Amino acid sequence: SNYPDVEIPSQSIFTHVLPENGPYAHNLPAFIDAPTEATLSRRQLRDAALRFAAGLVDEHAVLRTKNPDGGPVLKRGDVVSIYSPNSLSFAIALYGCFAAGIKVSPINSSYTPPEIKHQLTDCGAKAVVVHPLLLPNLIQAFALMGINEGQAKKRIIIADWKESQTLSDDVKRRYKGYTVFEEALNVGKMVKEEAFDGRYADETALMCYSSGTTGLAKGVETTHKNLVAIMCMFPAVFIRLEPGVDKMLGFLPGYHIYGLVKVLLYPIAKGAAAVIIRGFDVAMFGKAIGKYRASVLPMVPPVILLLAKNPVFEKFDFSSVKLITSGAAPLGKDLTLEVVARLRKLGSNALVVQGYGLTETSPTAHFNPVETWDTKAGTIGPLLPNLEARLVRDDRTDAPEGERGELWLRGPSIMKGYLHNASATLNSITPDGWFQTGDVAIIDKDGWYSIVDRKKELIKYKGFQVPPADLEAVLISHPEIVDSGVIGVYSKKDETELPRAYIVPKPGSKALGSAQEREVFQREVAKWITSKVAKHKYLRGGVVVVEAIPKSAAGKILRKELRERAKKEMEAE
Ligand code: AMP
Repeated sequence: SNYPDVEIPSQSIFTHVLPENGPYAHNLPAFIDAPTEATLSRRQLRDAALRFAAGLVDEHAVLRTKNPDGGPVLKRGDVVSIYSPNSLSFAIALYGCFAAGIKVSPINSSYTPPEIKHQLTDCGAKAVVVHPLLLPNLIQAFALMGINEGQAKKRIIIADWKESQTLSDDVKRRYKGYTVFEEALNVGKMVKEEAFDGRYADETALMCYSSGTTGLAKGVETTHKNLVAIMCMFPAVFIRLEPGVDKMLGFLPGYHIYGLVKVLLYPIAKGAAAVIIRGFDVAMFGKAIGKYRASVLPMVPPVILLLAKNPVFEKFDFSSVKLITSGAAPLGKDLTLEVVARLRKLGSNALVVQGYGLTETSPTAHFNPVETWDTKAGTIGPLLPNLEARLVRDDRTDAPEGERGELWLRGPSIMKGYLHNASATLNSITPDGWFQTGDVAIIDKDGWYSIVDRKKELIKYKGFQVPPADLEAVLISHPEIVDSGVIGVYSKKDETELPRAYIVPKPGSKALGSAQEREVFQREVAKWITSKVAKHKYLRGGVVVVEAIPKSAAGKILRKELRERAKKEMEAE
């Protein structure tokens, strides 16, 4: 990096963000929940988190007192999952687990039961904090793991029970006797958070799930040190947040590291506040900006596209917004300039800048500073301090300026590795510590990077990961399908990739008959998948029947061939 290194203390992320005697006044707001209008000050957040921590770990742990015949008492190093949209309880649970030294593994709230089962089994969560509307899914996931409802109940804490209005009375009655969040807060209070000083800073704090370059979703072990590092490194490229004044508006979900770090941790670490909404809802989003005078909006390209084009935003007050950040997927120069022009018409002087990173890099590695928002629009900016980067060609030599190479990164914000998966870790981090991103980049004469391609098989739909291996495994579980290959196709209209599947029907299948029968089958499969996977994995890019999936001699799917084929097919359509 061209920036001078910054100092990174070895300490717990909780202590770093919410120290007992820190530089920021205790009564400054930390979180504002737009749907309920409830506010948590820094002191209230710290207090609630230490209470939640006591509710999990003390001898009076709430799951044990509620379920004397086997509810868990958790201890430092155990894992808890949070399966909920953003809410104050999400934030308290997150900070509470960090305070107790419990590793957090947040679950995507649109996951289906088999997807939840995969994560819960893999991360070994001893308890789950869940939003009431997601509870039926969670119970089904436990059933798939061979855990009946009576047993599952001992491991579940229901957050935001008040938001259960849309559940039927029958279902509500069934949940009587479950542990609710408030009970966990009322057991007592941990006197002081667990320390992660010195070498203990390398203990895992967070495990978001990412497929990495290949295969199924894996637990990314993000340490206390990784998270503290990003809090310290990011200010070099980011605007200064004014304590007590600046407010970030967070619709980005806390189960993805982008939302978790940028909305739930970073503003609080700098004395600013986060306004949270449950997810992206245009009306709630627009209203919250005006009402709370939000100043920084972390976003993803498809929402920026909406902001550039959709007239619905005209009725909202954007005058408080000074910066919009984009990440998780590419944001082009044209759209950047277009949305800034639109913001001017909406009465805002906001600038739009792009960052880049991965779950494995905690997440931001590059960020375009406001000074070059227009001259370097479309780039991902320079490397953050304390990081080193290489652009590596196929022959493992370094690419010169202006030429393409795979982006490799090294530094204190790179994950420890993939949970219980030494081979995946070895395949992604070299013995001398270089993390291979699977993204292809170029660097210009000033040191600003641009992402130009992706080497890995990952598909991203609106910033969410769609691991092809995941969809391929589901597709071949269909009784009429014997093989499949999934790739991403880019939709300019939606400013995102869309997953597209090639499928081989079993011999004798009707799908191999007339063109009409084939089309019917393709449509059926696209519909069938919606009952099996989370929404962002739906086959929006199409389903195509083929006789065989192109493969290498070693049996690897030749995705490049499928991509070329898709390009031709889509041009012809
Ligand atoms: P995730 O781990 O879900 O955050 O996904 C990381 C991947 O998202 C990266 O490896 C990139 O392929 C993609 N990505 C993130 N930010 C950008 C960006 N600004 N431009 C292009 N691709 C991006």
